Amino acid sequence: MKAAVLREPGKPLSVEEISIDKPKAHEVLIRTAACGLCHSDLHFINGSYPHPLPAIPGHEAAGIVEAVGEEVRSVKVGDAVVSCLSAFCGHCEFCVTGRMSLCLGGDTRRAPDDKSRMAQADGTPVNQMLNLSAFAEQMLIHENACVA
Ligand SMILES: [Zn+2]
Ligand SMILES: [Zn+2]
Repeated sequence: MKAAVLREPGKPLSVEEISIDKPKAHEVLIRTAACGLCHSDLHFINGSYPHPLPAIPGHEAAGIVEAVGEEVRSVKVGDAVVSCLSAFCGHCEFCVTGRMSLCLGGDTRRAPDDKSRMAQADGTPVNQMLNLSAFAEQMLIHENACVA
């Protein structure tokens, strides 16, 4: 898929061919239909919010579900969804006491030693920004990071 990659702060994004993994148990693969450009994206792009690079910005997206992991029950293939950058895990102390807004979201991301959700042509991982990275033709995200 094509994605707009931030390689260096203050430089234009470069549109590149990026590989995207298949959904794991609680992940959803989405065909991006549209994405807003938020001022937060501009802060990342101009370097005032430092972020590990390369990375794909974009976090105000809408799209269509293309595939879901085997445990996903909240959305199904074909659903129109919007993205959310404050995904909750659903089983930490905050979540089980009804304070999902305080969830640190650990399980909504892949572990550092796990395969990255996206990679460039030579296999180098590409960082996912805000657990979404929507300036791309597809997004691979946790099921709690989108709503039908
Ligand atoms: Zn925003
Ligand atoms: Zn939680």
